[in-house]
Amino acid sequence: MKKDNRREFLKKSLLGLSGAALAPGIINGYPELLSSDLTVPELPVRTLGRTGIKTPLISMGGAEASTPSFVRAAYEAGIKLFFSATYYGEGKNEQLVGEGLKDLPRDTFVLGTAVPPDNFDNRTGKFKTAFDVDSYLRKAEGSLKRFGLDHVDIFLFPYAGKRETVMNEGVLKALQQLKKQGKTRFLGIASHSDTEEALNAAVDAGIYDIAMIAYNYKVPGKDSLNAAVTAAVKAGMGVVAMKTIAGAGRPTSPVNSDAILKWVLQNENITSIVSGMSSLEQMQKNLAMIRNLKMTEQEMKDLNLGLLDKENDLYCRQCRQCIPQCPHDIDIPTIMRSYMYAYGYSNIPQAWHTLADSGIRNNPCGNCPECSVKCTAGFDVRKKIYDISRLRSVPEDFLIV
Ligand code: SF4
Ligand code: SF4
Repeated sequence: MKKDNRREFLKKSLLGLSGAALAPGIINGYPELLSSDLTVPELPVRTLGRTGIKTPLISMGGAEASTPSFVRAAYEAGIKLFFSATYYGEGKNEQLVGEGLKDLPRDTFVLGTAVPPDNFDNRTGKFKTAFDVDSYLRKAEGSLKRFGLDHVDIFLFPYAGKRETVMNEGVLKALQQLKKQGKTRFLGIASHSDTEEALNAAVDAGIYDIAMIAYNYKVPGKDSLNAAVTAAVKAGMGVVAMKTIAGAGRPTSPVNSDAILKWVLQNENITSIVSGMSSLEQMQKNLAMIRNLKMTEQEMKDLNLGLLDKENDLYCRQCRQCIPQCPHDIDIPTIMRSYMYAYGYSNIPQAWHTLADSGIRNNPCGNCPECSVKCTAGFDVRKKIYDISRLRSVPEDFLIV
């Protein structure tokens, strides 16, 4: 849909609000949407590589959205690119995002999802057994059903890290099949760890149009990561950033989120930040931030303070250096991600499911006389594992997803 048409549609949908499209509190949270001409203010955009998609610098990661109307509010506010994943709430988040975007003109939003493969070992970043193409295609079908759509725009292969995984013959076959069948317009990877390797492999594979990567001011070795991002962009891929705010501190000791997000967008090769927004206030703040990316002196200082604050650091670099140091072969990076979801995002269902993925049933450090792990981020992993492992005793049906 052309911009003018979209504006017209938005005007109509806002004028026609009867409480069905948006909860009353949502529209009240958007004074700018109630301005006299009811147009959505222009948001700065960048182009997502060879897909040609122009998207505002802030996109929505659906994991933290708790209602369909919150997703719809993001759309009405001008956000265009939405992501979900099957592993958010065991598919329930895909349903929620689909509900939020239901009945909107299909060409006014861009939707992406990530479907995890079976038999994947987070500790090694490799498949435990041969990749099953048919089973993966069935899982992708399930994702589309939950969205209530016949196709997504971007289909991401998650857990991308090791070259052999990104270039796995079965993975490439399944993804190309999805595209051929019209179930996705574009293909991509999502990567939390070994990201440089994943980006380079994605370029070489030639079928991936997009990369969603963990990109955080606390990431060590930014120069080599930036070089891989630049190479991917030169090859025509579009790169979006996730986990940008992760590790910004606990809600009780937050650091300057504007500074952190602006830092990400100083890199013009990053098309958009996939933000896990959970409140209208946060959404408005993010949208205001992208109108002026110039960093103030205070914001620079705040970033440095964030780097020094080890006590409240929640950002696991997913470097996997801890794994060979633990004699009990625990999936510490996955447990640390669970810790971050719980203590950083207050997203207990996601923390619970991530913890379940790690395979632990209770505190695995209980019988270990001392911890031999020296975490590169300086985490006291034993303490964090103790804290978060208590969540494992909560029955799943207690979780509100
Ligand atoms: S060494 Fe530390 S930062 Fe790296 S994966 Fe392990 S817990 Fe995370
Ligand atoms: S305390 Fe826990 S993380 Fe540390 S070495 Fe023992 S089992 Fe591994």
